[in-house]
Amino acid sequence: ASHAASSALSSSSSAAAAAAAAAAPASRLHLISDEQQFTPSLAESLQQWHLLDAGFAYNLCAVLGSQSTGKSTLLNRLFGTSFDVMDERVRGQTTKGIWLCRALSSPLLVMDVEGTDGRERGEDQDFERKSALFSMASAEVLIVNLWEHQVGLYQGANMGLLKTVFEVNLALFQSGKGRSSSTGRDKTLLFFVIRDHVGATPLSNLRETLLADLARIWDGLNKPEGQEASRITDFFDLSFTTLPHKLLQPDEFERQVAQLRERFVERDHADFVFKKEYHKRIPADGLPMYLETIWEQVMTNKDLDLPTQQELLAQFRCDEIASAAFAVFTTGAKVFKKPIEAGQVLETLGAEMGALRSEALAAFDKAASRYHAEVYRRKRSELLEKLNATLSPLFMGQLKNTHKLVLASFRSAVLERLRGDTYDFADVVSSERQRALARFEAAAQAVQLAETDWSVEEETQQLATAIDAIADQCRAEETKKMLALIERALKKAIAEPTEMALASPGTEMWDGVLEAFGKALAQAEATYLRKAKSFNATEEESVLALAALRRRAWRALRAKLDEQTADSFLAAKLRSVFEDRFRYDEAGTPRVWSPTDDIDGLYRAARDETLALVPLYARIEPTNASLLPSIPSTADDPSHAALVERGEEEEFDFDASLLLFGEARKADVAARLRKEADAYYVEAKRSTVSSIAQ
Ligand code: GDP
Ligand code: MG
Repeated sequence: ASHAASSALSSSSSAAAAAAAAAAPASRLHLISDEQQFTPSLAESLQQWHLLDAGFAYNLCAVLGSQSTGKSTLLNRLFGTSFDVMDERVRGQTTKGIWLCRALSSPLLVMDVEGTDGRERGEDQDFERKSALFSMASAEVLIVNLWEHQVGLYQGANMGLLKTVFEVNLALFQSGKGRSSSTGRDKTLLFFVIRDHVGATPLSNLRETLLADLARIWDGLNKPEGQEASRITDFFDLSFTTLPHKLLQPDEFERQVAQLRERFVERDHADFVFKKEYHKRIPADGLPMYLETIWEQVMTNKDLDLPTQQELLAQFRCDEIASAAFAVFTTGAKVFKKPIEAGQVLETLGAEMGALRSEALAAFDKAASRYHAEVYRRKRSELLEKLNATLSPLFMGQLKNTHKLVLASFRSAVLERLRGDTYDFADVVSSERQRALARFEAAAQAVQLAETDWSVEEETQQLATAIDAIADQCRAEETKKMLALIERALKKAIAEPTEMALASPGTEMWDGVLEAFGKALAQAEATYLRKAKSFNATEEESVLALAALRRRAWRALRAKLDEQTADSFLAAKLRSVFEDRFRYDEAGTPRVWSPTDDIDGLYRAARDETLALVPLYARIEPTNASLLPSIPSTADDPSHAALVERGEEEEFDFDASLLLFGEARKADVAARLRKEADAYYVEAKRSTVSSIAQ
């Protein structure tokens, strides 16, 4: 039953180990050597004993007592350990030092102290004090082993040892801080085993005697300040038991040892000795470091302050546990580095980063949460910070890559829609902008982890700015495209009326041209204003665009006029006018010249009237001056001056633009006309001569 109970108590992973351990005693470890050196292989032994991962689920007891009082024998019988027992035949000393062994079928570590019995041998008590200190700092239960006949010998070796234990205890917890624990002040159990109990004196009497002796020792101690009124029971629980003579009553001895064993290994035993408050709260994986430090402190006679030791241990172990967790984490996180640096957007990055981080924290929590709570919390937040710092470049990289991706698809989506026939520019831009930002925010959200100081705000802002820049670019292009369309429509609208007006020159010729121009311009302006709304053009932009539109329209008209007044065109027009006057009569009938006709007079009249038209063509000058559009010259328009400065437009002078050609050309045109008119005159003359000749 005892075996089954203890197996059930072991964690499932060590159940098999416990069963195996039941078969043969565990090998012991020379924890502190003869030369008082701490072993380098405690962690290895704990691993072999399947205790390294036990956390708090282990117990530790030590034995104290004079040399050769059957301590090792008792431990081996009780726990199935393999400590050295002094050979009857070679009565001498067993190996010095402190030994550690795992109990059979129980997660219990047993410490056996071998040493000189300073008091009896007259040697120094140094090792005794050291081992007492060491045992007090680590064991939950101290088994004090003594012969029955030693009870009541107040001056005896045992009492000296107990005095040392008490002194040591007061020193360890001197600060009065105690160890921070929910169970209040932590206690150690002193478990007195009275050996070779003959039975004449009942246990109750022996206990009374021992209690009285203990009280006398306690009263005689020099207690530190603030502890003067303290009692033994503030620090210790006391328990007493007897065992019969092993050699004289072997069966009875074995029977009582078996009973005693139950109290040490059966957790649900009413008198189970390992109460929770005795536990020194050192996780098993921290024992090697903790015990070694304690031993170092003991050896160098430094003040041993357990709370401080626990904090130091916690720091050391939490760091170790954190770096182990971090190493695994780093390997996992490395996978994402290259693709992110190569510009990829990893769909599942957020989830995977979160999982990696949780794994690392869980690994840390599992082992580290058993240590000093405050240190654990601090180290945990340090680890979290480190994890976040490692993930942060991935987060930033992903945002950057997403930014690029979203921006590129924004650009192509907008351009694609602008290639269509019907669209509202503002609508295209605002809907694509919204879509892009929403897509970015969703992606950013997916890669954002809780418990970080990561922010997507700045990146979102940058994206919005970049999108707006592209939108501005598109708008400028669109505006240009639109102005070109408007200009083309205007050119078309003014072409025919201009040609017609110039073809029938007269005083109101320019009024006709300008009226047609004014109408076309008003149309163009209306079109622009209608479309400009869809570009979200600002008032200022509209004003500038309209001014540019007017200049362009005017230039278009000028170009048309230049074309229509080019040499050949103008000559044809004038010739046609002259012909109309000279070769046709008032009724529009072609003249057939007869010798009586006043050819000379008609010729001069027609020629002079036609020549009078040349200055009309040379300058745009309506009879109604209000028909002239108001288009400011560069000199009067600072915003246009700026455009000219930047080389984006040519200088413009409205008044100068009214002059189509100057005096020199006027003279040329007149000369040419005269020549042509002369030709008609000669032809007319000839026709009369030839008609006479017939
Ligand atoms: P330790 O030095 O205290 O560890 O004592 P050991 O366990 O090495 O035993 C010392 C001697 O005491 C050995 O010769 C044992 O056989 C003997 N011994 C062990 N148990 C008992 C006991 O219960 N009564 C007596 N009288 N002798 C014992
Ligand atoms: Mg021994």
